[in-house]
Amino acid sequence: MAVLYPSARVVCNAILRRHTMTTEVQTRPLPTRAAATPAAAARALLEKHWNGRLPVDPAAIAIAEGIKVERLGVFEDFPYSGEFLREQGVIRVNEWEAQVRQRFTLAHELGHYALGHDDAPRDFAEAFSSKASAPIERAANQFAAELLMPASAVAKLVQTGIFKTVDDLAKAFNVSKVAMTYRINNLGLFV
Ligand SMILES: [Zn+2]
Repeated sequence: MAVLYPSARVVCNAILRRHTMTTEVQTRPLPTRAAATPAAAARALLEKHWNGRLPVDPAAIAIAEGIKVERLGVFEDFPYSGEFLREQGVIRVNEWEAQVRQRFTLAHELGHYALGHDDAPRDFAEAFSSKASAPIERAANQFAAELLMPASAVAKLVQTGIFKTVDDLAKAFNVSKVAMTYRINNLGLFV
């Protein structure tokens, strides 16, 4: 996780150094980062940039946020699924992978951006699995799930009764069948 603020000890030492000649040391609470869940962070971005149409276009949302989206592949020696470089404001996606994978990769990398993570260089396929163990990867996956398959939109489509199978829903959201199955189970819905 990115540490945006100096530790309390560093700040206190700095204040103490500045105030060694005074008798009173004034302390102020350190600012804390807004505590948003990955899903809430995704909903905030959707609210800002989504036109409400399905499927959600994660590239359009990234670009609207001022992030450069680059698609690379074997010719550029890019053997990963994706990466996010905060300093350059770039998300790179492996264009040789399936479309649905590229969309999930983009949403996952956008999650690293929105959740304030440090650079996420070289995200391999394992990072996108539901079995990913690293907390930041799990958080980025939860973000991606809500971004591409917003809970409210999934519930609405299921309620219509038109989308009778996981396959139908996966097509509507332009995600893999695996991702859609996982999402439906997670939301406690049945089709
Ligand atoms: Zn990642």
